[in-house]
Amino acid sequence: MKINNKILSIPPYISTSWKNINSILVDQSGQLIILLHSNAKIIIPNLDKSIINVIFDAHAKYIENEEKQKQKTDAFPIPFKIGTEGLESLSANMQHNPAQSTAPDLPEELINKITSIVKVMGVEDPETMPKPEPNCNCVHCQIARAIRGIKKGEEDEEEISEEDLKFRLWDIKQKGEKLYLVTNPLDKKEEYNVFLGEPLGCTCGSKNCEHIRAVLNS
Ligand SMILES: [Zn+2]
Ligand SMILES: [Zn+2]
Repeated sequence: MKINNKILSIPPYISTSWKNINSILVDQSGQLIILLHSNAKIIIPNLDKSIINVIFDAHAKYIENEEKQKQKTDAFPIPFKIGTEGLESLSANMQHNPAQSTAPDLPEELINKITSIVKVMGVEDPETMPKPEPNCNCVHCQIARAIRGIKKGEEDEEEISEEDLKFRLWDIKQKGEKLYLVTNPLDKKEEYNVFLGEPLGCTCGSKNCEHIRAVLNS
């Protein structure tokens, strides 16, 4: 006889996993009756009352477990297996899913678990980690953000490269043929005229200044 939260085995009457069992009951004469999902009915007479209690306990535990599992998967119906198989499969299995961009926040506990896995695995280069899409709350993006330690809405800033920053430093307006007005957008009083003809020059006095470079790059 084997009774646990997975299996019910009472030879020679029955041996099956709980998932095949619909319900169990005891009739008036004290016989245990097991109803299977297949509609089969198994009657087991002469069981000790203590054993019947164990069987009922095991079934109750099984149902509780099932309910918990079900709630978890209902809340996050997403491929979500992290553990021994590690991060490679985490990023491979998980994809940004725009359809879930308004998904609820993952439980903090889960986020912490994932980030601690990442730390344990000693990921050096965050660029190899999944990348979040701005303002997306799908599971992929939430996790990607957690791993990278950024908050929602901060992705944009991260995307600005050094190159972009240089371009933003100067407003450039063409004033005439080969003549450009270069202004600091943060301080309009700071402006220079750059001439790209002969002789090349800038009103700042240098021939190799960032104003000339900004015009050439524009
Ligand atoms: Zn996403
Ligand atoms: Zn200059």
